Amino acid sequence: MSSPLLTEATRIARDFDYPAAEVQRGVAEYIRQSNEGLAKENTTLSQIPTFVTAVPNGTEKGLYLAVDLGGTNFRVCSVQLHGDTTFSLTQSKIMIPRELMASGTSKDLFTFLARQIEAFLRIHHNEHFEAHQRRRRDGNEEEDLFDLGFTFSFPVRQHGINSGTLIRWTKGFNIPDAVGHDVCALLQSAIDDLDLPVRVAALVNDTVGTLMARSYTSPGETGTLLGAIFGTGTNGAYVEKLENISKLQSMKDAHYDTHTGEMIINAEWGSFDNQLGVLPCTVYDRDLDADSNNPGIQMFEKRVSGMFLGEILRRALLDLHNNASVGLFKSSTTSKVSVPSDSLFYRQWGLDTSLLSIVEADTTKEMKDIKVALKDHLNIENASDEDCQAVKILTHAIGKRAARLSAVPLAAILIHTGKLNTDDIVDVGVDGSVVEYYPNFEGHLRDALREVPEVGPAGEKKVRIGISKDGSGVGAALIALVASKDETMHAP
Ligand code: BGC
Ligand code: MG
Repeated sequence: MSSPLLTEATRIARDFDYPAAEVQRGVAEYIRQSNEGLAKENTTLSQIPTFVTAVPNGTEKGLYLAVDLGGTNFRVCSVQLHGDTTFSLTQSKIMIPRELMASGTSKDLFTFLARQIEAFLRIHHNEHFEAHQRRRRDGNEEEDLFDLGFTFSFPVRQHGINSGTLIRWTKGFNIPDAVGHDVCALLQSAIDDLDLPVRVAALVNDTVGTLMARSYTSPGETGTLLGAIFGTGTNGAYVEKLENISKLQSMKDAHYDTHTGEMIINAEWGSFDNQLGVLPCTVYDRDLDADSNNPGIQMFEKRVSGMFLGEILRRALLDLHNNASVGLFKSSTTSKVSVPSDSLFYRQWGLDTSLLSIVEADTTKEMKDIKVALKDHLNIENASDEDCQAVKILTHAIGKRAARLSAVPLAAILIHTGKLNTDDIVDVGVDGSVVEYYPNFEGHLRDALREVPEVGPAGEKKVRIGISKDGSGVGAALIALVASKDETMHAP
């Protein structure tokens, strides 16, 4: 084959190799950092106690509201739990205006969210809404509030099931005045300003919601162990023994052990190994981080999740483009490729991760989908076959590394919880655009899992991974239900 372009693309791709020995080193370090996070505050892995001490069994019933902030869209939904492992869900989705994500105040953001809730209630639950307003007018004190589960997918130090202070923003959000504040209180006060019949009953990380939803919809003898997101960001939540959460003792929450003896921990694994002791690091990873709005944090996430994979690829491709001797997307006598100067190819964050899924999925000789996608996404026209081949080589390398890295926390949690020591299936619920759309993400992840000696092929076979569609909405409803029934879960 090898032209200078493909030789160079292959050389760069090799920098993204993440071999078995590295996976194993990663797992050992993850276990160490996770134990540290269970023992004390302010560690790399936050290991946040969520105050959720029971997982559902499919019999839960009721109508709840849920909102979800933390991905690309803001979602409002109402969830009817039928009590027989099924549910119906009505939802509306809206893109969050860029300026609200990264330059406004928390008041601007939360007012926007409350307005979306109001619009949703008017469309889908207007009777309830009008009845509330009527009671208000008549001076009727009786309240009939919707309990709302607030899925807020950022690191939050929880004080109880319905309160928690924001530790830091991730995934491109940056509204400094919200940090250190109780996000439930911020949402409740914006809701009250509009006089909506809604009570913020529970604060939920999307991974916790995914775990809850999975165990409601597919209850098994052993329950679901882990909920994980591989989407815009990445993170996981798992069921931990209370006795292992030694930092809880210092919170003096003795009454929690009257429950199941377990609590869901939100690992916040996006920040695994921020110090880069074991994570792989190419020049593209380094530059991406340096130019991000949160350098030095979410280092695992910056190698795994959808917000970042496109940007890693863009930087690698740009290198090939600027390298005159290989000339990616450069016209020659045989091809007339054009990259307009305002192409998103030249812009930070300009390459959407969905392009990687399209590239990886196109296995045809003509690479037609890749050509169409380059045009649609980046306005690059007439890319040559060799250009497309180079894009494929790098895409594959970056996607595969992300999937293999994703095996690290999974293997570590399987080992740490001892769940592989029995013959039982270990159930894992996942959600997010990367795991859902990137071809063979799970396959690469499983390959890496088998390479961890304590898991091995036998352990890998016991792991059942299932998509938990709409998990965060249903999960938030389930936690709102639990919270409205159990006062002991509230902050003291
Ligand atoms: C956040 C997590 C969240 C994950 C997936 C990360 O950036 O820190 O709280 O669960 O994204 O949405
Ligand atoms: Mg989401």
